[in-house]
Amino acid sequence: MKKIIVLSFILATAFSCKGKKQERESITITTEEVADIVHYLASDELKGRNTGTDGIDKAAAYIEKQLKSYGVNPYFDMFLDEFKFKARAEDSIKGYNIVGYIEGNDEKLKKEFIVIGAHYDHIGFGKPVENDSIANGANDNATGTSAVMTIAKYFATKKSNKRSVIFALFSAEEMGLRGSDHFAKRLKSQNIDLYTMINFEMLGVPFKERDYEVFLTGFDKSNFASKFNEYQGSNIIGFSEVSKQYNLFKRSDNYAFFQEFNVPSHTISSCDLTNFDHYHKVGDESGAMNFQFLSNVINSIIPGIEKMINTPTKEIILNEE
Ligand SMILES: [Zn+2]
Repeated sequence: MKKIIVLSFILATAFSCKGKKQERESITITTEEVADIVHYLASDELKGRNTGTDGIDKAAAYIEKQLKSYGVNPYFDMFLDEFKFKARAEDSIKGYNIVGYIEGNDEKLKKEFIVIGAHYDHIGFGKPVENDSIANGANDNATGTSAVMTIAKYFATKKSNKRSVIFALFSAEEMGLRGSDHFAKRLKSQNIDLYTMINFEMLGVPFKERDYEVFLTGFDKSNFASKFNEYQGSNIIGFSEVSKQYNLFKRSDNYAFFQEFNVPSHTISSCDLTNFDHYHKVGDESGAMNFQFLSNVINSIIPGIEKMINTPTKEIILNEE
């Protein structure tokens, strides 16, 4: 009897450990949840999320509510990071970044930060086509926003990050990278130890005939892509000739962090404008998105981010010019 009891105790313990471990390791972002986020942000109700309008305020309220529901904390006293800027000479516009935070779980490494970001604003209205004038901004950049939100959900659930992670959704990107500029400066004034900044843009449509899933802007500026692919175990991130030609490195929200902190700061995207006809047009709608691809990309990127957040030393570094 004794033996059996001991054995069954061991078995029970083994099974319960295994059960817990599996539960912790099997956090997958579903196609349905990213589709839900993009559907709402790109709905006609939000009227193209132009900064300074009711539509973007609704988007901000939604993003904040979702982050709270995942268990993400605000980075500042509250989620909203307000800034003002003049778009034209006469009128001043108010914008709001939404900034969440998950503190690292390692006493030493938690003093180092990674910013994961995407802009959630868009251009509002576009040139009408068949009575539709709302530029919904599904690809640009409800998809990138959904990536940041679901990655935040992943880490809020798993709590596996040794370094601290900031999740930033920027406003007024379309008005000249205003939100990220403001936020990077605000972070710099706190003098935080920023390791890297990863920005997401337009992930809703796959490339055809490339040997990678997404490209990295500023590919040559650091060893980010090679390290990331090594962490992740496949060739997910590649080089885009178009991105280099148009210097997309300087055209999104990663750039302010590179300028302020001089650390590896890049945008990850699957759209260099060669594979999407609706850029800044009214046809950039949910119906044009491939949500299966979007969720696959997010799920493929997470393991690389997780390793990056947890390496004992900062392995991603700028290349010498
Ligand atoms: Zn964009």
